Amino acid sequence: MDDLKQSISDKMKSPQWKLLLALLLTTVFLLVWSQLASINGIKEFNISYSQFMEQLSSGNIKSVTLKDLQVSGELSDERSLQVSGYEAPQQIKYFRTSLPAFQGESILQALREKGVVINVESAEKMSPFWQFIVGLLPWVLIIGIWFLIMRGAQRIQGGPGGLFSFGASRAKLHDAQKSQVTFKDVAGMENSKKELEETIEFLKNPGKFRKLGAKVPKGVLLIGPPGTGKTLLARAVAGEAGVSFYSISASEFIEMFVGVGASRVRDMFQKAKANPPSIIFIDEIDAVGRTRGAGFGGGHDEREQTLNQLLSELDGFESHEEVIVIAATNRPDVLDPALLRPGRFDRHVVIDRPGMKDRKAILEVHVKNKTLADNVDMEKLSRGTPGMSGADLENLANEAALIAIRKNKDKIYMEDFEEARDKVLMGTVREESISDLEKRITAYHESGHALVAHKLPGTDPIHKVSIIPRGLAMGVTQLLPEEDRHYYPKTYLMNKLSVALAGRVAEKLVFNDLSTGAQNDLKEASSLAEKMVAQWGMSEKVGPLSLGRAEEHPFLGRELALPKRYSEDLAWLMDQEIHRIVVEAESKAEDVLKADRNTLDRIAEALMKEEVLDRDDIERIIKEAKQL
Ligand code: ADP
Ligand code: MG
Ligand code: ZN
Repeated sequence: MDDLKQSISDKMKSPQWKLLLALLLTTVFLLVWSQLASINGIKEFNISYSQFMEQLSSGNIKSVTLKDLQVSGELSDERSLQVSGYEAPQQIKYFRTSLPAFQGESILQALREKGVVINVESAEKMSPFWQFIVGLLPWVLIIGIWFLIMRGAQRIQGGPGGLFSFGASRAKLHDAQKSQVTFKDVAGMENSKKELEETIEFLKNPGKFRKLGAKVPKGVLLIGPPGTGKTLLARAVAGEAGVSFYSISASEFIEMFVGVGASRVRDMFQKAKANPPSIIFIDEIDAVGRTRGAGFGGGHDEREQTLNQLLSELDGFESHEEVIVIAATNRPDVLDPALLRPGRFDRHVVIDRPGMKDRKAILEVHVKNKTLADNVDMEKLSRGTPGMSGADLENLANEAALIAIRKNKDKIYMEDFEEARDKVLMGTVREESISDLEKRITAYHESGHALVAHKLPGTDPIHKVSIIPRGLAMGVTQLLPEEDRHYYPKTYLMNKLSVALAGRVAEKLVFNDLSTGAQNDLKEASSLAEKMVAQWGMSEKVGPLSLGRAEEHPFLGRELALPKRYSEDLAWLMDQEIHRIVVEAESKAEDVLKADRNTLDRIAEALMKEEVLDRDDIERIIKEAKQL
């Protein structure tokens, strides 16, 4: 609704609203003016009918003007009469009153008998034309306001659309020639591409499939984290097949008007079927495809209606119709099972975050039309960006270009990419003055992370340690895996826990005090330990159970309705084990730092001087410290 208000207030500034305002003002002015005009400078009092009759019978009326049931006139002599609207009696010369009903001859008779001058005014002072216009005015106003509000509502829905096309889907028709995205623009994802090849072949050459009586899955669901290129891939499929492409975001189905969603779905399928071969692409399908009846407050009628319509459209396909429905989601777990049934979205293409090779390929796509310096090492860069999605990498390449421009360079250098990566990963550098003590605490904290990471076997190598405040953090120790990990051994996780806690341990050791700066480390450690115990079965005491505890549900999904699958006793035991694991990891970090206090001091000193140390610096300092 806020959108609506916003839209209306925007409207106020538009020409239509100005016109409307002018119309309103004119109307008000006309009304006021007509009131004023009728007074005509004479003080006219409203008297009652009985007072009028009294004056008439006493012969004190000089003249009257009749207009329908309205009588106005002049008394022969001023009279003091009590009239409504005044406390004291008024001296009245001119009066006005209404006749109770049309009395025809009888009142005229009475007037004539008393010798009153009678004027009759035609009821219609205005010409019929003006009367017509004035009569129309309120209607124009009402229709005008309705029209503008409707237009506003349409604007919110995000499309042009005529006044009466609420129900029409705004699936945008992309002509085959216009869908220029092809598989060439999609780097990596070889497996996903392969899975979609059959679909493309079917759209290009349906006859081949028909001859053998093969049925091609009509519904393809692309599943993957945000920014991994699902939308891009769907477009590329349309581009490769060279067919019409109807794309809509599922949230566009759900509008402020009930029933619109269902009719939009119907409309979109109609359009696509009339234009075969074609692809319907429903982005973010979880917006309508959520399990019916889940979430707070039970169901959402409008959404369920839309979903039901979608399901029945999917069923309504004939096998000879060359229409493929592709949907994308990052929450397959919340989708209604009915959507995933055979015959609907039964072909699932899972798109994962890109591995190192794919990251390199994606980066190469996005630097294609950028000028790079010779020292840019794509290999190193892609190794240094684990977990980044295609969208992140695109952003990284763009940030690097912006940084280079800001420094007035004519090429993008490796340093610019590194800076862009730090910015994307950790936020922008904060320019602020930090006290020496704070700087010292931060330096020891980060040195603690770095030293423990270096000492414990099987942890990821150090990439960079910095005490320049960025984003919300005062400093950072970056570890980067040599290659993408698919499994996490328990020893690796235990050491990771120790590394996470090492910053705090170093503070305690050196300053014999704790600071609030370690909150994020603690959060990370706690959640890692909880997962180890409750999900990955890494505690001997709890045993090999995965109980759904510590599972993340960032949005409201099905998990909410699930009952707790463990007893209070087990919950207590899990808490004990989580606690034990964390404490164990902490004491391990403490052992390492105590044994090597000298090295810790040296790293911290170097950090206070340099502010940033990379892997080579750290290794050199540690080696030098040993030789002492
Ligand atoms: P999703 O729909 O999965 O959230 P998008 O398809 O919108 O992600 O991807 C966002 C952007 O990221 C794309 O416009 C594209 O520029 C970039 N991108 C993602 N994956 C790739 C890839 N494999 N190759 C090239 N660019 C990619
Ligand atoms: Mg998308
Ligand atoms: Zn820390």
